[in-house]
Amino acid sequence: MAKVSVGLRGWRFDEADIFTDDEELKPLDEIPEEPRERLVRLVSLVEEPCDVCYLEHGEAEVHRCNQAEIVYGEPKGEVLLCPEHEPDLLYWFREEGGSEYAGSLEFGDRFHEWVAAGNEAPDGYETVEHVDEDPDGLPDLPDQQDIQERVEQDFEGDRIDILELSGQSDDEAGTEDALSEDELDDVDLSTDYPSNR
Ligand SMILES: [Zn+2]
Repeated sequence: MAKVSVGLRGWRFDEADIFTDDEELKPLDEIPEEPRERLVRLVSLVEEPCDVCYLEHGEAEVHRCNQAEIVYGEPKGEVLLCPEHEPDLLYWFREEGGSEYAGSLEFGDRFHEWVAAGNEAPDGYETVEHVDEDPDGLPDLPDQQDIQERVEQDFEGDRIDILELSGQSDDEAGTEDALSEDELDDVDLSTDYPSNR
C-alpha cells in the first residue's frame, strides 16, 4: 500500500486510508481514527512556523520564522521544522537520546527543551535523505488548500465531533501532559521517525 505525505513532509498516510479509488479525499468519517486524527491535526499545523525558528525569534518576531515544511512525532506532541533546522531534530534524535521519546507525546517538549537550552546540530550535520516518491507513480493528490477546505466543510457540516477530533476538549490543559495508559496504547508506532543508525 503506497504511503503519502500530505501538506507537510514527515507524517505518512496509507493512500487507501485517506483517498477513495477515484483519488479523492475520503469524507472524514470514513477515514480510520488514527490517520484522521493526524490529518485534522495537520490542517492546524500547515501554516505554523518552524519550532526552532520560533524558539529563536519568539512571537514578537514571528515574521522572521520560516514556515514549517516537516513534521515529526505524534499529533499534539509533534515537532515542526523548516529544512534549515531539520538537522537539529535529526541530531537530537540520533545522538542526544531523542529516539527514546519516539511514539511519546513528550517527543515535542523534550526536543524544545533541548533547543531552548542552546543545543543545535554541529555545523554540516548531515540532513536526512528523503526518498521522494516518484511523482509519476502517484495519483494527483489534492493540494493542502483543498484538504483544508474539505476538512473545514466537514466541520461546518457537523458530521463529526470536532472537539473530540481536534482534542480541544474542555479539560485539554489538564490532559495535555497526563499520558494515560490508554493513550499510550493508542500511540501509533508506525509514524515515521528518522532512522536511528
Ligand atoms: Zn527553522
